[in-house]
Amino acid sequence: MQLVILDRDGVINYDSDDYIKSPDEWQAIPNSLEAITKLNQAGFRVVIASNQSGLARGFFNIDTLNKIHAKMNRELAEFGGTIEAIFFCPHSPRGICNCRKPKPGLYHEIAQRLGIHLTGVPAIGDALRDIQAATAAGASPILVRTGKGLKTEAQLAQNGFAHVPVYDDLAAAVQAIIHQQQIKQDKQDSK
Ligand SMILES: [Mg+2]
Ligand SMILES: [Zn+2]
Repeated sequence: MQLVILDRDGVINYDSDDYIKSPDEWQAIPNSLEAITKLNQAGFRVVIASNQSGLARGFFNIDTLNKIHAKMNRELAEFGGTIEAIFFCPHSPRGICNCRKPKPGLYHEIAQRLGIHLTGVPAIGDALRDIQAATAAGASPILVRTGKGLKTEAQLAQNGFAHVPVYDDLAAAVQAIIHQQQIKQDKQDSK
């Protein structure tokens, strides 16, 4: 099975320092929903792993989060794409949990629920904690320059992540993933 794990804010939709607290505040980054659809069409299942501490902080409730995700799924469906599942950490940074990135708990949950190993699974994020969590879980981190990405890119080398591939946005990252998949298939076909 081929899987891609996505962060949400700053990767699929525009991020906000004030949190995404309503469906209106959720606005897709250009070409991100088309990119998810392309992954699906290339045979990839797509899931989200997202920190949503706004829940613990009381900025929005689970009902609103569900409505935000309903908007995302609806807009994605217009292109024909599907996000199979959304895994999120509802906890505050001060709480003790294993799921808030940079901890790898969400990724472990994904591996367990889908019954797969994350080795080689692309995990696309815009923050250093996405890279850290993906690495800790054994997935293959990819950075995009949207959201916090430019700031994160400047911190990669000093944190030991100089090898992590960086793309302008989700659309560019997806193009590279599909290209690599094609190369692998061509190799298999020529055997
Ligand atoms: Mg993010
Ligand atoms: Zn958590």
